[in-house]
Amino acid sequence: MAKNLLSTFRTASRLATSSHLKPAPTPKCHPRHFSLTPRRRLMETSGFTEEQLTVRDAIFKICANFSDDYWMERDQTETYPHELHAALAKDGWIGIALPEELGGSGLGISEATMMLQTIAESGAGLAGAQSIHANVYATQPVAKFATPDQRDRFLRRIISGEWRTCFGVTEPNTGLETLKLTTTATKDPSGDSYTVTGQKIWISSAQVATKMVLLARTTPLEEVKKPSEGLSMFYIDFDLTQPGLEAKKIRKMGGRAVDANQVFFDNYRIPADSLIGAEGQGFKIILHGMNAERTLLAGEALGLGYAALTKASTYARERIVFGRPIGQNQGIQHPLASAYMHLEAAKLATYHAARLYDRSNPERPDYDASITQHAVGVACNSAKYLAAEAAFTACERSVMSMGGMGYAADYHVERYLRECFVPRIAPVSREMIMNFVGEKVLGLPRSY
Ligand SMILES: Cc1cc2nc3c(=O)[nH]c(=O)nc-3n(C[C@H](O)[C@H](O)[C@H](O)COP(=O)(O)OP(=O)(O)OC[C@H]3O[C@@H](n4cnc5c(N)ncnc54)[C@H](O)[C@@H]3O)c2cc1C
Repeated sequence: MAKNLLSTFRTASRLATSSHLKPAPTPKCHPRHFSLTPRRRLMETSGFTEEQLTVRDAIFKICANFSDDYWMERDQTETYPHELHAALAKDGWIGIALPEELGGSGLGISEATMMLQTIAESGAGLAGAQSIHANVYATQPVAKFATPDQRDRFLRRIISGEWRTCFGVTEPNTGLETLKLTTTATKDPSGDSYTVTGQKIWISSAQVATKMVLLARTTPLEEVKKPSEGLSMFYIDFDLTQPGLEAKKIRKMGGRAVDANQVFFDNYRIPADSLIGAEGQGFKIILHGMNAERTLLAGEALGLGYAALTKASTYARERIVFGRPIGQNQGIQHPLASAYMHLEAAKLATYHAARLYDRSNPERPDYDASITQHAVGVACNSAKYLAAEAAFTACERSVMSMGGMGYAADYHVERYLRECFVPRIAPVSREMIMNFVGEKVLGLPRSY
């Protein structure tokens, strides 16, 4: 496992010094009067494993090819960062948490979270991480529940970077009430295919994806004992040139380099062997990916928060007003210091959740049978909540401590602030996490 990773690391190191990437076009922007180059990385890395630190080092090296101005320009022109996906795929990083026999690295969500955090922290922000993350988390239930033949056909080309995945769960009329979703997949009498009809919303990367993890109802809600039954998970070809499938971009506040879409299915035909696992068991199956997604998103939020604090503290050291650096004033220093401590606390929660997720997997050598799925769910939800809030605090304080320049696109923190709302809203909102902890941990009556 580590050998595979280390060879990837060596390739990645070579890549970092190569100039295969075209430099991003220099956007027209105002000259900067202050350096934005950090003196050092802010996150305390003691206690991480050698593998996690190797991942961090290698990903920073790849991301060094993508400047802050590259990400600013991608955001302003709403252009997909294809080059980052290509660079990571070239060195095998897309398959970081997918099985070695399919060409992946066979590492865990602990290492994948570090990868996504590092992408965000490098200055790529949520947009950079979101251009990658569905390929990492949405493929987890496929790897676990698909047949060997399906895994072979579906995952190799994701790992190589030839294909990209999007994740189709949210619907316009049901929102967070996932079990009520109304998109249907109906099996044709021949049994060879299903036809899908319905609508999804907020589907990231649908404009560039070749595959979609789709959750659809195969048995009407009225005919099942529990609402969590009768939903099925499919791994479908997502081909916008085919009849019955359409995607429309949604204009949004941040992360504009990565498209979000409304997706319309109108009798869209998919082969029967797009079904993953047993029909009707899709909700349980997809949950496996959802806990991984919460952890990855927590890591991405942390990365964004550390990136913002790095910019703000660099600026606060250099900006002189009233004859001294603004960072010498406690009114600037203390809010940044407390934001840092919140990030560090959320970091512990995030990597604790990732560890529980990984060690609850019976296929791993470090499997711990005492870790329940309830414990994993509580840890992953709590980490996502804490990291999202810590990132928001860090981004908001960074903007405010930089005064007018915090509001200038050239200084990047305004972009981070716009992006940091995503982990607070998605994939599950703050309120629903509170509801979950209130009911399932504190034993309080269900409030909704
Ligand atoms: C940028 C972005 C990218 C996304 N990418 C994807 C994607 O790729 N794939 C995908 O499937 N989805 C995606 N989503 C969707 C995301 O997961 C949903 O937006 C999220 O789950 C919230 O659902 P909703 O927007 O329908 O909110 P709603 O369900 O309409 O809720 C609205 C508000 O009401 C609150 N609320 C609702 N019910 C309760 C209650 N009982 N108690 C307390 N508060 C309540 C919620 O917390 C929330 O604040 C994305 C969203 C965004 C913004």
